Amino acid sequence: MDTNLPQTSQPRIVVIGCGFAGLRLAKDLAKLPVQVVVIDRNNYHNFQPLLYQVATGALEADSIAYPIRKIFAGQHNFFFRMADVERVDPARNVLETNIGEIHYDHLVLATGSLTNFFGLDSIEQNAMQIKSVPNALNLRSYLFQNFEKAILTEDPAQRQALMNVVVVGGGPTGVEICGSLAEMRKDVLPKDYPELDLKQMEIYLIEAGAEVLGPMSKESQVQAKHYLEEMGIHLRLNTHAQRYENGRIYYSDTEFIRTQNLIWAAGVNGAALDGLPENAVARNKRVGVDTQNRVLGLRNVYAIGDVANMVTDEMPRGYPMLAPVAIQQAEQLAANLGRLLQGEALQPFKYTNKGSMAIVGRNRAVVDLPGDLHFGGFLGWLTWLFVHLMTLVGFRNKAVTLISWAISYFSSDKALRLIIRPFKRHDFAERSVVEAAEKKAATSAYIPPVSAPEAPVVGG
Ligand SMILES: Cc1cc2nc3c(=O)[nH]c(=O)nc-3n(C[C@H](O)[C@H](O)[C@H](O)COP(=O)(O)OP(=O)(O)OC[C@H]3O[C@@H](n4cnc5c(N)ncnc54)[C@H](O)[C@@H]3O)c2cc1C
Repeated sequence: MDTNLPQTSQPRIVVIGCGFAGLRLAKDLAKLPVQVVVIDRNNYHNFQPLLYQVATGALEADSIAYPIRKIFAGQHNFFFRMADVERVDPARNVLETNIGEIHYDHLVLATGSLTNFFGLDSIEQNAMQIKSVPNALNLRSYLFQNFEKAILTEDPAQRQALMNVVVVGGGPTGVEICGSLAEMRKDVLPKDYPELDLKQMEIYLIEAGAEVLGPMSKESQVQAKHYLEEMGIHLRLNTHAQRYENGRIYYSDTEFIRTQNLIWAAGVNGAALDGLPENAVARNKRVGVDTQNRVLGLRNVYAIGDVANMVTDEMPRGYPMLAPVAIQQAEQLAANLGRLLQGEALQPFKYTNKGSMAIVGRNRAVVDLPGDLHFGGFLGWLTWLFVHLMTLVGFRNKAVTLISWAISYFSSDKALRLIIRPFKRHDFAERSVVEAAEKKAATSAYIPPVSAPEAPVVGG
């Protein structure tokens, strides 16, 4: 029991997840007379907003991830266990993990989110996602592997499918990866693949809404759309990706785009855990909390960040799944846990909106600030770079990222294009999805799309 954690007279606060929320909370609990136990399935904190740069060869993975034990070196009340939490048992105050059971006095869920494929199985089994460092590295390798294959094929349609990229989801992640891919097409790929005609490589962005960057201001939406079009991205707005079959992404019964590079950036669900009261978990798998981040129906369990669904008059659909919300909820909860230990009343969460931004490419970014302030272009781009650099964890990561960006800016190059993953399409899908697909393949006439015969072109 308790995976060799020391037993003390101090209350134990267990935090599941060391993303933006868990990291801030555990840091802010340093001075309280409590034992802080952080559990994460990875031994590093991952800076998700820059994952797309790892996926497109602009940054190395180590510059956006930081070892958790190093972050907390010197914090005496801190303990870390690398583990996957499988279930919460609130009746016993115990977590079931793959390394054993862990007891808690107070529990904080900071598990973030998971990609939501909206039940589109064929897309889930074949699309690449950008939620983790392995996802981003796989995506980079896979793109370059397909270019190596494009050189070898003599079939022009197959060559184009190997070079085309389709990104689904026009939020910041989709927009940012499209912009970065367009820069690769212009600056990097022609140098590496002079045998290929890069004019044949098309980049498509499919978005169900009428605009890209849905939650941002109208000005930012229009400006980002203009930037994307200027960079040669084909926008398919008001369009729903429906299924992926035989190397084609269908957006109606008959219309499709041929691609072997499908990137899904269209939505996320909360990463709720089994064992929580059923009525506390919403359909989008976010966990309902009160204004003090306490999970509905539980006395000593809290949720913060992406996984927490706090519905207020100000935010009737819950707070957005953004890093500043996660950080501010963590700060508030740390203060509230301090109050709890003192026997004082807990205070409700209040969000300070510091604005939002998205980058499309070199000298092209859009920024919205509170008070309906908007700007873009070079100033927006500089602001984006500065804010992201300052938010990275650790001096080394900041320095390496700054140097990498400076080199890329002046050389118009993205240096990191090693293929470091073995070719395997299912590397991109979650293990459960792979297992389901394999089971289906074993019991039915399911044909994996990679080897499926090509049908005649009727669209796209
Ligand atoms: C590609 C991408 C780009 C983004 N860009 C921006 C941006 O520009 N600006 C912005 O504000 N936000 C952005 N976001 C959103 C932002 O990253 C999230 O809002 C933020 O990470 C939420 O923090 P969190 O701590 O709640 O969750 P996370 O940061 O996701 O951390 C969750 C942690 O929990 C761990 N975990 C989960 N389940 C378990 C389990 N069962 N057992 C053990 N460990 C577990 C995970 O390993 C992870 O370390 C982006 C997200 C993505 C994916």
